[in-house]
Amino acid sequence: MPRKINSLLVTGGLGFIGSAFIRFVLKQKNLQIRVVNFDLMTYAASLESVKKIAKDPRYFFVKGNILDQKKVLEAIDRFAIDACIHFAAETHVDNSIADPKLFLRTNIEGTFELLECLRKRPSLHFHHVSTDEVFGSLENGFFNEDSPYRPNSPYAASKAASDHLVRSYARTYKLSTTLSNCSNNYGPFQNAEKLIPQMLKKALLKQRLPVYGTGENVRDWLFVEDHVAALWQILLWAAPSQTFTIGGGAEKTNLELVRRLLELLAFELKEAPQKYLDLISFVKDRPGHDRRYAIDFSRLRKQLGWQPQVDLAEGLKKTLRWYLANREWLFSQKAPLKQLIKKAAVSDCI
Ligand code: NAD
Repeated sequence: MPRKINSLLVTGGLGFIGSAFIRFVLKQKNLQIRVVNFDLMTYAASLESVKKIAKDPRYFFVKGNILDQKKVLEAIDRFAIDACIHFAAETHVDNSIADPKLFLRTNIEGTFELLECLRKRPSLHFHHVSTDEVFGSLENGFFNEDSPYRPNSPYAASKAASDHLVRSYARTYKLSTTLSNCSNNYGPFQNAEKLIPQMLKKALLKQRLPVYGTGENVRDWLFVEDHVAALWQILLWAAPSQTFTIGGGAEKTNLELVRRLLELLAFELKEAPQKYLDLISFVKDRPGHDRRYAIDFSRLRKQLGWQPQVDLAEGLKKTLRWYLANREWLFSQKAPLKQLIKKAAVSDCI
């Protein structure tokens, strides 16, 4: 039997993946559920990303900080929440290198505060959304659920710490939690600081396209709609304490990916590819840059029947067309601000 969820708290639901998850859930028209989006609205949030479902009577928004336990508990009680999926985080590795503190606060302390809420409302189920970056760098083989944790950036370390907290709370306090570690996502509404939208934005502006080192770092790419479909399966069907690695089976070097994207862009705009390829410029490598990530997602496939539906060629085309049709959104993306951790007032609830 699937887990019965009447009222779901989604932290970080104005972000890239959280909003795709909410759109995915509410697309199921016959599904009786309440979805409560709890988001601080940092620079990475986009109200546009939930515009199409904002009037759905099953959707609610609370502006709030996951560090604010009182506010989270208020939302849990007010909406009779019975499950929570936790996306809220600081997510950009480069920002974590420039200013790690906010990553430690949001990703570690924020998860800690949510787990404390869970201790106080122990009937809730909690799913923690994490990354493959916690496992560090691979030479050969694939990451799976038994891979050792070897984070190499402050971002990865903060996510690793949050994973450990989730595990320890489940064990110590007998709470119902599940956890997933996913590879690089791409798709609509991704902030322009991330590789694919950044390259598109700069290419459209005819600016230089910075590629780290020699561009040989390998990443596995998953279309965001496939990721959120996997999360929904896990939320409904996974037993407490289960963990899953999620990936796209689409390994590419950064240089291959950027070249492919630029060739597609040139094709869509009926221009010569070389015009865009010439914009590529190699820049000093990111410190602690992991060489390769790759994922074995066979547990997810065997136990929950999930596998990616959108291959990289199709996903990149869809993504590119979306950004071209939504250039205004792409160009409106704010640069990350040095944020103040704000305590949003209860009156911010809408
Ligand atoms: P994102 O940066 O696009 O969005 C993060 C969201 O969290 C924003 O809406 C922001 O306003 C919100 N937020 C930040 N701090 C908050 C706080 N203190 N309280 C409440 N809300 C807060 O992130 P994303 O790319 O959608 O990633 C979502 C999750 O998935 C993260 O936990 C990330 O580690 C994980 N993940 C991301 C990827 C990827 O490729 N993007 C891959 C694997 C896992």
